[in-house]
Amino acid sequence: MKNVIQYTLSAKDPAAHLFEVTLVVSAPDPQGQVFSLPAWIPGSYMIREFARNIVRIEAEHGGARLPLRKLDKHTWQAAPCRSKLVVRYEVYAWDLSVRAAHLDQTHGFFNGTSVFLRVHGAEQLPHVVDLRRPDGDAYKTWRVATALPELKAKRYGFGTYVAGDYDELIDHPVEMGTFALATFSAHGVAHDIVITGRVPNLDMTRLCTDLKKICEAQIALFEPKTRRAPMQRYLFMTLAVGDGYGGLEHRASTALICSRADLPVKGRKEMSDGYRTYLGLCSHEYFHTWNVKRIKPAVFAPYALDREAYTPLLWLFEGLTSYYDDLMLVRSGVIAEADYFKLVAKNINMVLRGSGRTKQSVAESSFDAWTKYYRQDENAPNAIVSYYTKGSLIGLALDLTIRVETRGKRSLDDAMRLLWQRYGRDFYEGGARGVSDAEAEAVFEEVAGVKLKRFFDRYVRGTEDPPLAKLLQPFGVDWRDERKNAKPDLGVRTRREGGDCKLANVYEGGPAHRAGLSAGDVLVAVDGLRVTASNLDVLLGRYASGDTVELHAFRRDELMRFEVELQLDAAPKVVLTPQPKPATAARLRAAWLGSAEKAR
Ligand code: ZN
Repeated sequence: MKNVIQYTLSAKDPAAHLFEVTLVVSAPDPQGQVFSLPAWIPGSYMIREFARNIVRIEAEHGGARLPLRKLDKHTWQAAPCRSKLVVRYEVYAWDLSVRAAHLDQTHGFFNGTSVFLRVHGAEQLPHVVDLRRPDGDAYKTWRVATALPELKAKRYGFGTYVAGDYDELIDHPVEMGTFALATFSAHGVAHDIVITGRVPNLDMTRLCTDLKKICEAQIALFEPKTRRAPMQRYLFMTLAVGDGYGGLEHRASTALICSRADLPVKGRKEMSDGYRTYLGLCSHEYFHTWNVKRIKPAVFAPYALDREAYTPLLWLFEGLTSYYDDLMLVRSGVIAEADYFKLVAKNINMVLRGSGRTKQSVAESSFDAWTKYYRQDENAPNAIVSYYTKGSLIGLALDLTIRVETRGKRSLDDAMRLLWQRYGRDFYEGGARGVSDAEAEAVFEEVAGVKLKRFFDRYVRGTEDPPLAKLLQPFGVDWRDERKNAKPDLGVRTRREGGDCKLANVYEGGPAHRAGLSAGDVLVAVDGLRVTASNLDVLLGRYASGDTVELHAFRRDELMRFEVELQLDAAPKVVLTPQPKPATAARLRAAWLGSAEKAR
């Protein structure tokens, strides 16, 4: 192939966690070729400066060393040359997350943003990658999982893969090792599930059965007539660890990390909380295939990866995706209606817990994701709101509003489809353009058939709580606040630290806050009785609201004494219960929670 950007990536020294990359540029910029590594990875809105993991880099031209000059923290420029330029570098890969790269003797994983230097000016050329197996017998059984199209490689094999441009290259993470693999078809498209890590008696058949239902429901939501998925194939790759949770979306795959205990066990049919959480995560990342990987905010089309890309719309791209992730579980029949309402209530209680929601709107939270949501400190519940959790409540409120305003004829599904048709469907087929805030709002109004400016002013640009109790009424869902049955509480979240009970968050206005306690304080005693990592609730359980207790705590190893007047927990404990009657409400609810097919 002429004029392509070529990389060879080898897992050179797994024990030292080093990938070696060779980059060949056949027609470099004669002024001096510039290269850089992204500062962030799409989907995770924080500056991570991946170039800090490049431990050695050198350039070569015509068999001789070519000087490389560093321009800034992630950019290099080679001395001018007019033909084949080779750059060799090593990347330290020991970040056990879905956002970077990880390599040891058991497996390798990387995102292109961590390992592939961008050749400035050549981003639109095809990019070819030769993936090399590590040397040694121990690696003979390793395979490769990626949604990158093969050029000269068997599926799941080492060899050459190709991407149409740099943007595509870095949007297909790669897993290598001896993973468990299973395949299912969803509306005619092959979906692979790859699980890395030791998981005894893993039930891959159940994973396939459940994910197939979820994927087919989502494909049908966006393309009810054609049932056409937007990708040629799809890959769910999961790293199972002792304790972990996270996911990152890509155009034809997702990289996930989960706790081993969350994955299903052969022969056990129950739906555990952990497995439900894992399916919700899969559903979330899969929904992004449409919402954010193709329907995108204008500022992500294209991504500028050398600096922050500010948008007030993450409530739409993350929040509405969070609304749909659990909704698709109930619609596809993977979880029961009663379980769905438990998940919604849990989310409502989480949002209502923090006073930060009265200070920051979800539009502001989206915009400041880089410095606030992604860099939370102990004061976060009192200072910020999550565009995920409150965003999902806005999705719920919008959906119910549209359904009521149109007498059940339309829903948020229609708005998602309209966004899809206008901005998403041909994104990678020459129609790349993003959605502006005004355009997004116009789509919701068009579908609802009413003005929604007040809605957006109050709940999206403003800090009011959406009126969910009222909105749920026509759907026969009873909203009850069971706070009055709750026990008195300090208004804190604690964290176990060794055998100690440490305050992780102190909620503004709560008993602990008013008594002067602070996040980081280590609780020692309540009324002279020792507090351990696990007995605080038991100790407080003997008191009533209005009682004053003496509390001892260490701050910077200094013993401090506080008098705390206990109160009922200030945060609501909402319980949602669907009612069988009246029939009209039950019908509206069935149309909302039934599958796309059933509702049609
Ligand atoms: Zn997401």
